[in-house]
Amino acid sequence: MVRREVIAAAEAGRREEAVRIATTKSAEYADSLSQSARQLVAFATGRAEDLQRESLREERISIVVIVFLLAIIMSLSLAIAVYVIGNLRKDQVELARHLYLVDQNVLVSSLDKEGIVQDISSAMCRLLGVTQEEIIGTRTNFFVDEGDKELLEQIARTLKTGKEWRGTFKRMDGEGNVLWLHSTIYPVLDQSYAVSGYNNIIEDVTDKKAIEELSLRDRLTGLHNRRYYEDNIEAVIKTARREKKDLTLAIMDIDFFKNYNDNYGHPAGDQVLFQVANVFKKLLNRPTDHAVRVGGEEFCLCFTGSDREKSIKFLEEIRGEIEALKIKHEYSDVHPYVTVSAGAVVSFGSDIPDKERLYRQADEALYKAKKKRNTLVVA
Ligand code: GH3
Ligand code: MG
Ligand code: MG
Repeated sequence: MVRREVIAAAEAGRREEAVRIATTKSAEYADSLSQSARQLVAFATGRAEDLQRESLREERISIVVIVFLLAIIMSLSLAIAVYVIGNLRKDQVELARHLYLVDQNVLVSSLDKEGIVQDISSAMCRLLGVTQEEIIGTRTNFFVDEGDKELLEQIARTLKTGKEWRGTFKRMDGEGNVLWLHSTIYPVLDQSYAVSGYNNIIEDVTDKKAIEELSLRDRLTGLHNRRYYEDNIEAVIKTARREKKDLTLAIMDIDFFKNYNDNYGHPAGDQVLFQVANVFKKLLNRPTDHAVRVGGEEFCLCFTGSDREKSIKFLEEIRGEIEALKIKHEYSDVHPYVTVSAGAVVSFGSDIPDKERLYRQADEALYKAKKKRNTLVVA
């Protein structure tokens, strides 16, 4: 604009005017420009200050928000940590309580592969009458009495196959009382599936065994009863067959016992039964001998191992011992004292018949003996 006025004045030959316009108006224009620039700077400064203030405010808000969020996160983390630790402690207390219960009540021990005790519960120590210090590090033969070689071999045989062993056996506690223990022995395997030891859990079945034993005994004589006979005769036959031994089964019956009761009274008859039973108890005293009261005045005797002649001699000895009791029996037709008649069968190994035939043969022999009484007849 100023330039155009100057050019116009110069072209019109108004040089001085052109100079004046150039100096005054340029100065004015420069002034106005500089004012505009100042205003612009002022505006820009103002805006910059506004922006700075804004950003400071936002920064402060961000810090507050971050601090707030951090506080929440920290509180939550703390709460979770307290909860988890609390639960862990509760679990630990619960676990310790369970371990204590197991230690005090479960008969358990762990053994290395040589059978040496590594750990044992207090309950088991109490039962055996020993302390943990005394028993840890010692060999216990799985708590079986050392004399019971047959059982120990049986356990070793089973464990060798990698299987667990279960069974019931008898042993003494620290005070010499008989204990019946039901034992389960589990092999423990290492990473390469080799046996590294055993866990042995035991149940004290002494009371159970005592009740069972009572149910298998005759109360009057203390001998085993028919139920015991039925439960065991098959196993006895099998063992005798397997071990190729002689098995003797005899039935002994008191002669004229009805007459005895009728004349001397039932209690006196009971006394006779008791005395006769005592003879059987005294003479049949090996673990493989069995004397059973199978009926009122009828007894079944069963034993293995002797040869035929010895078995017959032994049965004669028993019959003689009863006669030798000299229990007066004025109402017997055959003898002044109480006597028994006996029918027996002696068979060897694989010739041993089944339990029904065996009993029948002995009974038939008894029937023959009863023709004479105070006699032994062997089938
Ligand atoms: P036999 O010589 O032929 O054997 O004649 P027995 O009189 O001995 O035989 P019988 O079978 O006729 O009589 C058996 C008697 O045994 C009858 C019964 O009163 C008696 N008796 C059975 N159980 C008991 C018992 O627990 N106590 C007593 N005292 N007597 C019993
Ligand atoms: Mg009789
Ligand atoms: Mg009879």
